[in-house]
Amino acid sequence: MSRERSGGRAPNELRPVTIEPGFVKTATGSALISCGGTRVICTASVQESVPRWLVGKGRGWMTAEYGMLPASTGERKQRDISKGRADGRSVEIQRLIGRSLRGIADLEALGERTIYVDCDVLEADGGTRCASITGGYVALALAVQRLQSQGLLTKSPLTGTIAAVSCGVVDGVPMLDLNYPEDSTAEVDANVVMTGEGGLVEVQATAERTPLSRAHLDELLALAQTGIEGLREAQEAALR
Ligand code: UDP
Repeated sequence: MSRERSGGRAPNELRPVTIEPGFVKTATGSALISCGGTRVICTASVQESVPRWLVGKGRGWMTAEYGMLPASTGERKQRDISKGRADGRSVEIQRLIGRSLRGIADLEALGERTIYVDCDVLEADGGTRCASITGGYVALALAVQRLQSQGLLTKSPLTGTIAAVSCGVVDGVPMLDLNYPEDSTAEVDANVVMTGEGGLVEVQATAERTPLSRAHLDELLALAQTGIEGLREAQEAALR
Protein backbone atom coordinates (compact mmCIF):
# COMPACT_ATOMS: atom_id res chain seq x y z
CA MET A 1 0.00 0.00 0.00
CA SER A 2 1.41 3.39 -0.89
CA ARG A 3 1.18 6.28 1.52
CA GLU A 4 1.40 9.99 0.80
CA ARG A 5 4.17 11.62 2.86
CA SER A 6 3.96 15.22 4.00
CA GLY A 7 5.66 17.53 1.52
CA GLY A 8 5.24 14.83 -1.15
CA ARG A 9 8.47 13.15 -0.04
CA ALA A 10 9.49 9.88 -1.71
CA PRO A 11 9.99 6.88 0.65
CA ASN A 12 13.77 7.11 0.12
CA GLU A 13 14.00 10.87 0.57
CA LEU A 14 15.53 12.69 3.54
CA ARG A 15 13.80 15.73 5.00
CA PRO A 16 15.60 18.97 4.06
CA VAL A 17 18.77 19.08 6.17
CA THR A 18 20.81 22.12 7.09
CA ILE A 19 23.74 22.37 9.48
CA GLU A 20 24.86 25.79 10.71
CA PRO A 21 28.40 25.55 12.12
CA GLY A 22 29.59 27.81 14.95
CA PHE A 23 26.03 28.50 16.16
CA VAL A 24 27.14 28.88 19.81
CA LYS A 25 30.17 31.16 19.98
CA THR A 26 31.08 30.29 23.58
CA ALA A 27 31.52 26.57 22.78
CA THR A 28 34.76 25.15 21.37
CA GLY A 29 32.71 23.59 18.57
CA SER A 30 29.01 23.88 17.80
CA ALA A 31 26.31 23.38 15.20
CA LEU A 32 22.58 23.88 14.80
CA ILE A 33 21.15 20.99 12.81
CA SER A 34 17.71 21.05 11.20
CA CYS A 35 16.19 17.89 9.75
CA GLY A 36 12.77 19.02 8.59
CA GLY A 37 10.96 20.21 11.71
CA THR A 38 13.51 18.71 14.11
CA ARG A 39 16.13 21.19 15.32
CA VAL A 40 18.96 20.43 17.74
CA ILE A 41 21.74 22.64 19.08
CA CYS A 42 24.93 20.61 19.48
CA THR A 43 27.98 21.91 21.33
CA ALA A 44 31.37 20.35 22.05
CA SER A 45 33.25 21.55 25.11
CA VAL A 46 36.78 20.51 26.00
CA GLN A 47 38.00 19.87 29.54
CA GLU A 48 41.70 19.37 30.22
CA SER A 49 41.13 16.33 32.47
CA VAL A 50 39.63 12.85 32.30
CA PRO A 51 37.20 10.94 34.52
CA ARG A 52 38.92 9.42 37.59
CA TRP A 53 38.93 5.90 36.14
CA LEU A 54 41.02 7.10 33.17
CA VAL A 55 43.65 9.15 35.03
CA GLY A 56 47.18 8.09 34.05
CA LYS A 57 46.00 5.76 31.25
CA GLY A 58 47.28 8.04 28.48
CA ARG A 59 43.96 8.49 26.75
CA GLY A 60 41.01 10.82 26.71
CA TRP A 61 37.23 10.48 26.77
CA MET A 62 34.25 11.65 24.74
CA THR A 63 30.78 11.66 26.23
CA ALA A 64 27.38 13.20 25.52
CA GLU A 65 24.34 14.69 27.20
CA TYR A 66 20.88 15.04 25.61
CA GLY A 67 17.86 17.06 26.61
CA MET A 68 14.62 18.39 25.17
CA LEU A 69 13.68 22.01 25.83
CA PRO A 70 10.26 22.35 27.50
CA ALA A 71 8.59 23.80 24.40
CA SER A 72 10.26 21.39 21.95
CA THR A 73 7.23 19.10 21.97
CA GLY A 74 3.53 19.86 21.48
CA GLU A 75 2.82 19.53 25.19
CA ARG A 76 5.29 21.27 27.54
CA LYS A 77 7.95 18.81 28.67
CA GLN A 78 9.26 19.23 32.20
CA ARG A 79 13.01 19.89 32.39
CA ASP A 80 15.12 17.03 33.73
CA ILE A 81 16.58 19.41 36.32
CA SER A 82 13.17 20.03 37.86
CA LYS A 83 12.69 16.26 38.24
CA GLY A 84 16.10 15.86 39.87
CA ARG A 85 17.44 13.43 37.23
CA ALA A 86 17.30 12.68 33.51
CA ASP A 87 14.44 10.40 32.46
CA GLY A 88 15.19 6.89 31.17
CA ARG A 89 14.71 7.90 27.53
CA SER A 90 17.20 10.78 27.79
CA VAL A 91 19.77 8.56 29.52
CA GLU A 92 19.40 5.90 26.80
CA ILE A 93 19.75 8.53 24.06
CA GLN A 94 22.78 10.28 25.54
CA ARG A 95 24.56 6.95 25.95
CA LEU A 96 23.80 6.14 22.29
CA ILE A 97 25.21 9.52 21.19
CA GLY A 98 28.38 8.99 23.25
CA ARG A 99 28.93 5.44 21.95
CA SER A 100 28.36 6.59 18.37
CA LEU A 101 30.92 9.39 18.60
CA ARG A 102 33.45 7.11 20.34
CA GLY A 103 32.90 4.71 17.43
CA ILE A 104 35.05 7.00 15.28
CA ALA A 105 37.43 8.17 18.00
CA ASP A 106 41.08 7.47 18.67
CA LEU A 107 41.04 8.27 22.38
CA GLU A 108 44.83 7.91 22.72
CA ALA A 109 45.31 10.63 20.10
CA LEU A 110 43.01 12.89 22.16
CA GLY A 111 45.41 12.77 25.13
CA GLU A 112 44.19 13.13 28.71
CA ARG A 113 41.27 15.45 28.02
CA THR A 114 37.50 15.05 27.80
CA ILE A 115 35.15 16.34 25.11
CA TYR A 116 31.54 16.78 26.21
CA VAL A 117 29.00 16.87 23.37
CA ASP A 118 25.73 18.43 24.55
CA CYS A 119 22.64 18.05 22.40
CA ASP A 120 19.63 20.22 23.22
CA VAL A 121 16.47 19.72 21.22
CA LEU A 122 14.82 23.01 20.24
CA GLU A 123 12.02 21.39 18.28
CA ALA A 124 11.17 17.68 18.14
CA ASP A 125 9.48 16.29 15.04
CA GLY A 126 10.92 12.76 15.13
CA GLY A 127 14.50 11.57 14.81
CA THR A 128 15.99 13.76 17.53
CA ARG A 129 18.60 11.18 18.58
CA CYS A 130 19.76 10.80 14.97
CA ALA A 131 19.94 14.57 14.42
CA SER A 132 21.94 14.80 17.68
CA ILE A 133 24.53 12.29 16.40
CA THR A 134 24.79 13.91 12.96
CA GLY A 135 25.03 17.46 14.34
CA GLY A 136 27.10 16.32 17.33
CA TYR A 137 29.74 15.01 14.93
CA VAL A 138 30.04 18.47 13.32
CA ALA A 139 30.38 20.17 16.74
CA LEU A 140 33.00 17.58 17.72
CA ALA A 141 34.95 17.96 14.46
CA LEU A 142 34.99 21.75 14.89
CA ALA A 143 36.28 21.38 18.47
CA VAL A 144 39.02 19.05 17.20
CA GLN A 145 39.93 21.58 14.48
CA ARG A 146 40.23 24.24 17.21
CA LEU A 147 42.51 22.02 19.35
CA GLN A 148 44.64 21.31 16.28
CA SER A 149 44.92 25.01 15.42
CA GLN A 150 46.12 25.60 19.00
CA GLY A 151 48.83 22.96 18.50
CA LEU A 152 47.36 20.77 21.24
CA LEU A 153 47.08 17.59 19.14
CA THR A 154 49.77 15.83 17.16
CA LYS A 155 47.30 13.48 15.47
CA SER A 156 43.54 13.75 14.83
CA PRO A 157 41.46 11.86 17.41
CA LEU A 158 38.80 11.28 14.73
CA THR A 159 39.26 8.20 12.56
CA GLY A 160 36.29 8.90 10.29
CA THR A 161 32.88 10.55 10.14
CA ILE A 162 29.61 9.42 11.69
CA ALA A 163 25.94 10.19 11.10
CA ALA A 164 22.59 8.64 11.97
CA VAL A 165 19.18 8.44 10.39
CA SER A 166 15.83 6.92 11.30
CA CYS A 167 13.80 4.66 9.06
CA GLY A 168 10.81 2.45 9.51
CA VAL A 169 7.90 0.58 8.03
CA VAL A 170 4.73 2.69 7.82
CA ASP A 171 1.56 1.05 6.47
CA GLY A 172 3.71 -1.72 5.05
CA VAL A 173 6.09 0.67 3.24
CA PRO A 174 9.77 0.98 4.24
CA MET A 175 10.61 4.68 4.57
CA LEU A 176 13.58 6.88 5.36
CA ASP A 177 13.78 9.64 8.01
CA LEU A 178 10.39 9.49 9.74
CA ASN A 179 8.75 12.64 11.06
CA TYR A 180 6.66 12.49 14.24
CA PRO A 181 3.31 11.58 12.60
CA GLU A 182 5.06 8.76 10.69
CA ASP A 183 7.11 7.64 13.70
CA SER A 184 4.05 7.46 15.93
CA THR A 185 2.12 5.23 13.50
CA ALA A 186 5.02 3.07 12.25
CA GLU A 187 4.88 -0.71 12.62
CA VAL A 188 8.67 -0.74 12.71
CA ASP A 189 10.87 2.09 13.92
CA ALA A 190 14.64 1.94 13.44
CA ASN A 191 17.68 4.14 14.02
CA VAL A 192 20.85 3.44 12.08
CA VAL A 193 24.25 4.88 13.01
CA MET A 194 26.80 4.58 10.21
CA THR A 195 30.26 5.86 9.38
CA GLY A 196 30.78 7.90 6.23
CA GLU A 197 32.39 4.79 4.73
CA GLY A 198 29.18 2.79 5.28
CA GLY A 199 30.28 0.83 8.38
CA LEU A 200 27.45 0.10 10.82
CA VAL A 201 28.12 1.36 14.34
CA GLU A 202 24.69 0.76 15.89
CA VAL A 203 21.32 -0.48 14.62
CA GLN A 204 18.21 -0.14 16.78
CA ALA A 205 15.00 -1.59 15.40
CA THR A 206 11.73 -2.07 17.22
CA ALA A 207 8.75 -3.89 15.71
CA GLU A 208 5.86 -3.13 18.02
CA ARG A 209 2.90 -4.19 15.92
CA THR A 210 4.09 -6.49 13.15
CA PRO A 211 7.33 -8.51 13.32
CA LEU A 212 10.06 -7.15 11.02
CA SER A 213 10.83 -9.42 8.07
CA ARG A 214 14.44 -9.98 7.02
CA ALA A 215 13.57 -8.52 3.59
CA HIS A 216 12.27 -5.30 5.15
CA LEU A 217 15.31 -5.09 7.46
CA ASP A 218 17.58 -5.26 4.40
CA GLU A 219 15.47 -2.56 2.70
CA LEU A 220 15.67 -0.35 5.79
CA LEU A 221 19.46 -0.68 5.92
CA ALA A 222 19.71 0.22 2.22
CA LEU A 223 17.47 3.27 2.78
CA ALA A 224 19.61 4.27 5.77
CA GLN A 225 22.78 4.07 3.68
CA THR A 226 21.24 6.45 1.12
CA GLY A 227 20.25 8.80 3.93
CA ILE A 228 23.69 8.71 5.54
CA GLU A 229 25.25 9.71 2.20
CA GLY A 230 23.02 12.81 2.10
CA LEU A 231 23.78 13.65 5.72
CA ARG A 232 27.48 13.24 5.12
CA GLU A 233 27.30 15.79 2.31
CA ALA A 234 25.58 18.25 4.68
CA GLN A 235 28.28 17.60 7.30
CA GLU A 236 31.03 18.19 4.75
CA ALA A 237 29.39 21.44 3.60
CA ALA A 238 29.20 22.63 7.23
CA LEU A 239 32.87 21.81 7.85
CA ARG A 240 34.18 23.31 4.62
N1 UDP B 1 8.34 12.96 21.72
C1 UDP B 1 7.64 13.88 22.49
N2 UDP B 1 7.83 13.87 23.84
C2 UDP B 1 8.70 13.02 24.45
C3 UDP B 1 9.41 12.10 23.66
C4 UDP B 1 9.21 12.09 22.30
O1 UDP B 1 6.88 14.67 21.97
O2 UDP B 1 8.83 13.06 25.68
C5 UDP B 1 8.13 12.97 20.26
C6 UDP B 1 9.16 13.84 19.57
O3 UDP B 1 8.59 14.46 18.42
C7 UDP B 1 10.21 12.83 19.16
C8 UDP B 1 9.29 11.68 18.74
O4 UDP B 1 8.27 11.68 19.75
O5 UDP B 1 11.04 13.30 18.13
C9 UDP B 1 9.94 10.33 18.67
O6 UDP B 1 10.50 10.02 19.91
P1 UDP B 1 11.54 8.83 20.07
O7 UDP B 1 11.59 8.50 21.53
O8 UDP B 1 11.26 7.76 19.10
O9 UDP B 1 12.96 9.51 19.75
P2 UDP B 1 13.51 10.26 18.47
O10 UDP B 1 12.78 9.72 17.25
O11 UDP B 1 13.25 11.72 18.67
O12 UDP B 1 14.97 9.94 18.44
